[in-house]
Amino acid sequence: MSIHQHSDPTGNTTFTEARVIVGDGTTVLDDAVITVTDGIITGVSPSSSAQDAAENRVSLRGKTVIPALVNPHGHIGYMRGAACDARFYSRENVIDHLHRFVYHGVSTFQSLGTDRDGIEINVRDDQRRGELADQDLATLFTAGTGLVAAPAPGLTTGAPFFATDAVHQVTDPDDARVFVRRLAAQRVDVVKFWIDDRGGAAAKLSPQAAQAIVDEAHEHGLKAAAHIYTADDANTALDASADILAHMPRSPEPDQKLVDRLVEQDVAVFTSMCVQSPARTGWLDEPLLRETLPGSAIEDLRARMEAQAPEPLFDTSETYRRLQANFTILHQAGVRLVFSPDTGLLAQLPGIAEHRELEALVEAGLPELDAIEFATRRSSRLLGLADRGTIEIGKRADLLVLDADPLRDIRNTRRISDVVIRGRVIDRARLAAQLLDSPC
Ligand SMILES: [Zn+2]
Repeated sequence: MSIHQHSDPTGNTTFTEARVIVGDGTTVLDDAVITVTDGIITGVSPSSSAQDAAENRVSLRGKTVIPALVNPHGHIGYMRGAACDARFYSRENVIDHLHRFVYHGVSTFQSLGTDRDGIEINVRDDQRRGELADQDLATLFTAGTGLVAAPAPGLTTGAPFFATDAVHQVTDPDDARVFVRRLAAQRVDVVKFWIDDRGGAAAKLSPQAAQAIVDEAHEHGLKAAAHIYTADDANTALDASADILAHMPRSPEPDQKLVDRLVEQDVAVFTSMCVQSPARTGWLDEPLLRETLPGSAIEDLRARMEAQAPEPLFDTSETYRRLQANFTILHQAGVRLVFSPDTGLLAQLPGIAEHRELEALVEAGLPELDAIEFATRRSSRLLGLADRGTIEIGKRADLLVLDADPLRDIRNTRRISDVVIRGRVIDRARLAAQLLDSPC
């Protein structure tokens, strides 16, 4: 049962009797009290020391609370239902996806390099000015327009299929510098570029252009995130001192030298696993999907996956097995792996992909507590957000309240009772009714 109807709209609430997973990868509190004042957590303590007389008490007996999820990698505005296409891109659809994130317990989202006409920059700026404060939107961060190599005779650009015309095509290092300066003037949150020849079909960004992009980003105090596929491309990104790899290196596999470099340079490596996972359809039957998507969209996606099964919609199941093995190698070596659902394309439904990436991490061998830390504290730190990501005093009260314990089964993060953002319990029924193509 939802706690929404019992809550105080001001963001001053005392949540009691909760099982709390703090998000630090270790701490679990049973029967805890979370005190929230003006949307900020001002107390986390065992029940015995709670003030019974506190006003606006809300019991969370039987619930498990984790921090709201923070997703630093996806592409909003392109998916409508379960289809991804540039013709769906609009401010309305960008806003719709930010609504979907909140509905599914994702407080914060970073879009990586596929903005169109500055729409994401505008939405972000409106949000920062408080103009969208009356809406339940995830906090948006954006790279604005990403950079790829200009196409060469017989070769396309290395841009993602849905955004080939939305990225800047780099002609030479000077051109790259000029464009990054333009991005800096728009105050993008990160600079995104692609180094990938798409299996030989696309022109690959030169090491000199990659260097120019990263240098210019750093000149402006911005991090640079490189899309890479192979170990060679990862080395090019590392040579250029990129801060983030948007995928783990695959085929050829990372050798020890590359693994050592990833650790030494303290690069953040995005997991980006479930975007490549085999085309299984069991998750399409989960009740959560039917709350926000028309049945026809779910059946479209099922048909696409069944036509492809058992291979993934992207790449092969053999590559996925090696990706899982790489995950373990990189994690055990101490590489800074970060949660990355790559939301908004293929089967990566906004709001659902985040929960599926958690499952993919656990399937790859990561304990549930650590997977939750990846998707909360670690991803918040990557975005430089000290105000969220754990359930601790001084943090925003961004909470995902669950009807079942995700330490028993990570898929229980989908059994959402309530979402709390800045201490306010979201009216999820109202939010679902507002969504585009709402089934409500
Ligand atoms: Zn991506």
